[in-house]
Amino acid sequence: MFKITDDQFIEEVGTRAERASELKPCPVGSEGACCRTCYVGPCRFMGKNAEAEVRGVCASTLGVVAARQFLTMCASGSAIHATKARELAGNLLAAAQGKSKEDAITNWSKLHAVADVLGIKSKGKAKEKVAEQVAGAYLNQFSQTSAWAMERVPAGRLTSWQQQQVLPQGIDREITASVYNTSVGINYDVAAIMQQAVKVSLANGWISGTIVADIKDIMVGTTPAGSSFAGDYWQQMIGKQHNPDLKSSDLKLLGELITTGKIRGIACFVDCDHPRYEASSAQKFIGVELIKNDILVISGGCNNTFGDAGLLMSDTVLKVAGNNLKNSYQTTGIPPILSLSGCIDHSRLLTVLAAVAEAGKLAGDISALPVVALAPHWFSGTALSIGSFYAASGVPAIFGGKSPVQASTEITEILTGGWSEQFGANFRFIEEAVDIVAAVLEQIDATREKSNLATYYPEIIKSATATG
Ligand code: SF4
Repeated sequence: MFKITDDQFIEEVGTRAERASELKPCPVGSEGACCRTCYVGPCRFMGKNAEAEVRGVCASTLGVVAARQFLTMCASGSAIHATKARELAGNLLAAAQGKSKEDAITNWSKLHAVADVLGIKSKGKAKEKVAEQVAGAYLNQFSQTSAWAMERVPAGRLTSWQQQQVLPQGIDREITASVYNTSVGINYDVAAIMQQAVKVSLANGWISGTIVADIKDIMVGTTPAGSSFAGDYWQQMIGKQHNPDLKSSDLKLLGELITTGKIRGIACFVDCDHPRYEASSAQKFIGVELIKNDILVISGGCNNTFGDAGLLMSDTVLKVAGNNLKNSYQTTGIPPILSLSGCIDHSRLLTVLAAVAEAGKLAGDISALPVVALAPHWFSGTALSIGSFYAASGVPAIFGGKSPVQASTEITEILTGGWSEQFGANFRFIEEAVDIVAAVLEQIDATREKSNLATYYPEIIKSATATG
């Protein structure tokens, strides 16, 4: 078969940055004001009072159209992670049955820990049989009416989701429901459409992401499983930096560092690379500004912005980090920037944050923690779904660039004021990097005050190494 090289392909069609500069985004569609749900349209909602005065042929309002667009993107992002989760569950099954040459189970202690959580008895069974049942249980998660991973959600938040009717069922059910609710003639209730966006995103973060994290640990992980999945995840995040100075870093310690202000807050970076912006420019700027201000940065996505910029190396990062982060590093070994392997691993952060909130008795809820989710250059449905599951889980999401629903005041108000009331965290879009930094600091300090955490002060450097 004839194949072309990457260079030949680029010569033929240009780079994506070149294509992006030649092909401008549609000004109507980019703000959520164009509906192409059915072939009666596309219907465009244009003009100053479009939200009040324009209707699609099917009588949809601009709010309905923008909500459909938001839900469609969240569902597509969730489908990508769900497909990955299903593929890994299939790999686990094949490995358990000895049918795969590529896939093998390397971490049997993790497998047995997962089996326990799933209610699968290991005693007296061949370990391969246990693995087969674990894989089968994971595959069942896709279509079940309830999901086991919800056990990791703080109890109060779980109750609130039940009351607000956003508790997700199996991920396949939620994706199907999303496609149904975005179809012509089905749903004209903007609140209900946005509710489905929350459900499909929560299923992404708490079900698909958890399945992927656990199977990756079972098949390629080496960390021995403890009694707490969150503790394992945290150890892996820290250990991933190959940190020789790591002393003791359990979740209790992380909670103490946060409550005392030694870590002012945490920024969970969704590290997308948008072809219309200079590669990683906003990520690097925002990341550096945040660690200067003693915000711990934890990053995961398609990019490796901080690794590529040399900012994961402790000696480099300690030159720019604030004194509190420097001192925390000297006393605990936690570096100012941590890297996740991909955006699906933000699910591990959800589990870690839930455990920190419960262990520290911070009202028992993630929203009490000074944490913000960021995507300085978001562009995909995956990122939108991640922002949504963070916000609905209690972590405010601040995304860079334009909002995909900017044309609709109604949907913008749901994402900001509405979600603040419902979830204690909202979803905002802020265009400029410098404004994003200001918004993150303001948000984190406001949460610290609301949660009665120690007031943050920059420390005087105590360590000889750090004063260098
Ligand atoms: S679903 Fe309604 S608003 Fe959308 S294209 Fe069809 S007729 Fe127009």
